[in-house]
Amino acid sequence: MPSAPLLDSFGRGITYLRLSVTDRCDLRCTYCMAERMAFLPRSEVLSLEELHRLALAFIERGVTKIRLTGGEPLVRRDVIDLVRALGRRLEPAEGQQGGLEELTLTTNGTRLTEFADDLAAAGVRRINVSLDTLDRALFARLARRDRLPQVLEGIAAAKAAGLAVKLNTVALKGLNEHEIPALVEWAHGHGHDLTLIEVMPLGEVEGDRADHYLPLTVVRERLAARWTLIESGHRTGGPASYFEVAETGGRIGFITPLTGNFCATCNRVRVTATGELYTCLGGTEKVDLRAALRSDEPEAALAAALDEAMRIKPERHHFRIAPGAAPALRRHMSLTGG
Ligand code: SF4
Repeated sequence: MPSAPLLDSFGRGITYLRLSVTDRCDLRCTYCMAERMAFLPRSEVLSLEELHRLALAFIERGVTKIRLTGGEPLVRRDVIDLVRALGRRLEPAEGQQGGLEELTLTTNGTRLTEFADDLAAAGVRRINVSLDTLDRALFARLARRDRLPQVLEGIAAAKAAGLAVKLNTVALKGLNEHEIPALVEWAHGHGHDLTLIEVMPLGEVEGDRADHYLPLTVVRERLAARWTLIESGHRTGGPASYFEVAETGGRIGFITPLTGNFCATCNRVRVTATGELYTCLGGTEKVDLRAALRSDEPEAALAAALDEAMRIKPERHHFRIAPGAAPALRRHMSLTGG
C-alpha cells in the first residue's frame, strides 16, 4: 500500500502527475509562448535521475498516472532513459513494487518519428499530440515554425508503433475556427480521438488572447448541427468530457476551463523541470521539491513537501479572458506543460 495517499483539503485524491522534463521547445506557438523566450538555465533543471526519483516519490504516495510534458519533452536529450525507467514501474518485476497504471506523454509531434518505437517499447500505450491545423501556412503562422510535415509523419509513426494517438487542438477564433470539422474528420478518418481545448490566459504573449478566444459551447453547437454527438462515459483521467460522433465513428473531447469548470474533480498536480510543484494550473501555490531532493534527508523532506502541497492546493482556477485583460498568471504554459 502507498504510504499516505495524496488527498487535498477538499477531499480530492491526487493520482495524476504531470511532470515537465524541460521548458524548452522547438516550436513557438503564439498562444503559449513569446517568440523570444528566456528558457531556464540548464544548471537549474533537474537531472533525469532526480526527475525519476521525484516520480517514484509520487508513486509511493498513490500516483498511478504520469504524463511527461515540456515545453516539448522529446527535445530533452536522453529523455527516453527516463521513460524506460518509469516504464519499469508499469509491469513490476516479481516482488518489486509497481504502482504505475499509465505512463504517457504530450508532444508537439515534431520528434515522434525518431522516438515512437522507443516509447512503445518502454510501455507507453497512449500519447497526446498537439495539432491545431492541417493547413501548412496556418501551422507556420501559429507555431512560428514550418513543421507540419514532420508532425504528420510523427503521428503516422506513432500509429505504426502501436501507440494510440489523441490529438489536442486549441480552438482559435478567426484562425482554425472554420477548420475544426475538417480536423475532426481527418482525426477520425485516421482512427484518432480529438480533443478541443479553450485558450487559457497563462503568460504574456504578443497580441491579445481575447482576439482568438473561442468558447467551446459555440463550437459544440456548430458540431452538433453537423453531426450526431452522443455523450460518452469515456474518461482518460484528465478534464475532458467526451462525445461519440455517430457519423464518423470517432470521439471528440472538450476541455472547457472557461465555459465549463472541471475543478471539482481535480486529480492532478504539476511539477516543473526545476522541481517546483504547482498545485494548480491556475494558481501560484507551489512547493520546492528540488530543495527537498537535495536536502540531507530527502525522503522525509519530500514527504513533508507533498503534505504541504496538499494543504495549500486551491479549490479551483479563476481564469478570465477579456479584451485587454492581463493574463491570469505571468507563468507561461510551457513551464508546466499544460
Ligand atoms: S485548474 Fe487547478 S483545480 Fe482546476 S482542474 Fe486544473 S489543476 Fe485542478
